[in-house]
Amino acid sequence: MGGHLVCKFGGSSLANAEQIEKVRRIVSEDARRHFVVVSAPGKDRNDSEKTTDHLFNIATEGQHFRRRGKAISAKESYERVIGKFKSIMSGLAIEGEDIIDSLESDLTSHISDKKRIDFFASRGEHCNAKIIARYFMKKGMDAKLMLPEDIGFLVSDRFGNARVLPATHANLKGSLNDGQISIIPGYYGITLKGDIAVLSRGGSDLTGGEVAYAVDASCYENWTDTDGVYQVDPRIIPEASVIPELTYKEIRLLSSKGFNVFHFDAMVSCKNKEIPINIRNTNNPSAPGTMIVSSRIPDETVVGVGRMDGIAYVYIEKDMIGETIGFTKELLDIFKDFGINTHHYPSDKDDISVIVDQHDLMGKADELKEAIATTLSPNFLQISYDLSLLSPVGIGMKDTPGVLAKASNALFEENINIEIVDQGPSQMSFHFGIFQRHADAGLRALYRALLKRQDR
Ligand code: ASP
Repeated sequence: MGGHLVCKFGGSSLANAEQIEKVRRIVSEDARRHFVVVSAPGKDRNDSEKTTDHLFNIATEGQHFRRRGKAISAKESYERVIGKFKSIMSGLAIEGEDIIDSLESDLTSHISDKKRIDFFASRGEHCNAKIIARYFMKKGMDAKLMLPEDIGFLVSDRFGNARVLPATHANLKGSLNDGQISIIPGYYGITLKGDIAVLSRGGSDLTGGEVAYAVDASCYENWTDTDGVYQVDPRIIPEASVIPELTYKEIRLLSSKGFNVFHFDAMVSCKNKEIPINIRNTNNPSAPGTMIVSSRIPDETVVGVGRMDGIAYVYIEKDMIGETIGFTKELLDIFKDFGINTHHYPSDKDDISVIVDQHDLMGKADELKEAIATTLSPNFLQISYDLSLLSPVGIGMKDTPGVLAKASNALFEENINIEIVDQGPSQMSFHFGIFQRHADAGLRALYRALLKRQDR
């Protein structure tokens, strides 16, 4: 593979000096690793929380953890963050008083409202990148710190969930060069007005994807703490194996159903330029990881089974739904007005159900039911909670008879009732809704039937 590689290292890969040294070795082992995007330090064995969470807690004067029922004050978080960076620098044996001074001054600055939260939250990546660049240089590498504010990493002013602006690609292309190793903090950018704004959580993945797009990388390496993407959640099925190759479409489907290795939106830019994404393990760099590519010839039908818990479905029965033009639109408009994202909506002649994340119904369920009752006068309306969706995914499924049959038979053999079934229109996935109390057994059954003895 020629060209250059963009490498993004996640928080667990940078949680302490020992991890940063692993990263340095990985970067120096391949001369094509010119662009290194870094997260804030994650948790190591001495931490109960990630640096970014502590930063949110400082910015919100303790509310961030209080809302999660945790008694960690803003002051404690402040000490944790400063202590973390000091211990990383002493572990790496680098001087960094100036880095700590500027961090202290940033974290005590008076900025108002949302801008304050974003600015504080961005300091984890900002400070870590400074340290990593300094360490790489000390070790004789030709590294250069490239801050988003200096290279025109432009984002919208939707604070807390900013979007990358299209001009960013040209800016990055103009300012990044492959003669050196650029160290780029992930997760944040700069607005047109010059404020710092952060992307959604886990957003360093997105930064990496944008950099890969801008520099026409031959591969985007996403370094994390697992050997790749597993066929099913390995916490439930320890013998599950790593998937060697997946298409963008398959990973999108799996990550929408609980596969959390990679930021859901991060592959969009890479997909547009067909830049492969390689999920790798910083703690096991000899493992090839999972390659995400634009196309592949499958030698299996199902490549992985996703699972999403905490699902509710809103069931509506009304005569003549099937004949009433615009009924589904009116129904979905109600969900839209309530700000509730809908996942699937299996329907029939006289009934329809809308599948949602039950968290999204919190505090809204009664009002939602009332709005549906008033607008659509159903004969029957009910919300069922505590379901899981189990979703087999694979491009090899299309035009292959019997996959759904095998899967439903596997659940039947476990005496698990299927409450909902919905096949994706591309025939690359289908979704079973079952009660969550059966989800572990259901997942094991689907693993045995569809993945274990792969039908190759
Ligand atoms: N540090 C940020 C977070 O914890 C972004 C990232 O790690 O990708 O969400």
